[in-house]
Amino acid sequence: MASRSDPRSYDLDALRARVLPETDGEVDDSIPQLADADPDLCAVALALPDGEVRSSAQGDVAFSLQSAVKPFLFALALLDTDGEALDRVGIEPTGEAFDAIKLESGTGRPPNPMVNAGALLTASLVEGTDPDARAARIARGLASFAGRDLDVDEEIAHNEHLLGDRNHALAHLMRAEGTMAVGADDAVSVYARACATLVDAETLALMGATLACGGVNPRTGERAVPTRVARDVVSVMATCGVYDGSGRWMRAVGIPAKSSVSGAIVLAAPGRLGAAVVSPPLDSQGTSVRGRHASEALSEALGIHSFDVE
Ligand code: GLN
Repeated sequence: MASRSDPRSYDLDALRARVLPETDGEVDDSIPQLADADPDLCAVALALPDGEVRSSAQGDVAFSLQSAVKPFLFALALLDTDGEALDRVGIEPTGEAFDAIKLESGTGRPPNPMVNAGALLTASLVEGTDPDARAARIARGLASFAGRDLDVDEEIAHNEHLLGDRNHALAHLMRAEGTMAVGADDAVSVYARACATLVDAETLALMGATLACGGVNPRTGERAVPTRVARDVVSVMATCGVYDGSGRWMRAVGIPAKSSVSGAIVLAAPGRLGAAVVSPPLDSQGTSVRGRHASEALSEALGIHSFDVE
């Protein structure tokens, strides 16, 4: 087996330079703000259990979380409902696209919290009697994972709310099935706002590290969620986090992760580290092409594939 690099000294700029020439993939064009993303943005960051955060060049460039927010919405829903969220959303992979108009057969629940249907639901389950209160609750919760307050890109939030036809369809379908208690438009607006939250690779790595460290932010020492919640979230990231590419991801990278249309990927290697990679061009399953390559290389170099044996 190849010798392991130390995450404290591993050369993240060399890794970035290695994946940068890769030009496969398409930038998401669902809204103008995503379509305008710089296709050559590429950053890799690591956050370690002692709170140290390291990144390549562009580790401080802002992008919207998009679906990388889903693990954190699930965490907050579990926390605020005292685990009852687990009865309201499935946890099985779908083998389908992230925005498939499909609910769990028999129950009418969303299939899992990592696809859009599930995240629309988990965002609706956080504490708060109206959409503004729920959005504020989510902002507070994300801040505890990140260790700082995060801005929301209002134009992205607005356009995703306006143009997210499939999300509106999913919310209405859940209303019709009786699985969504809040109004469909309210649900889409709160979810769109969460997706429009801005982070950079360093911050997203720290958010991943908070999950990897049992729910405690390793930099601030603040507990974002109970250990059990973090474990539940990381488990579902492992099986469903990369949508219909989750099996391929787990074999090749072996680290629970969540992909997103902004090209961000958040990774949580329990007890070891959190990581984030971002680069907008996506493969057909909505995963950053450079992000995938960088994650594979990182997993290999640091020896953190979950199923590697010494
Ligand atoms: N906001 C996006 C949507 O709901 C997030 C999807 C994603 O990142 N895969 O369509």
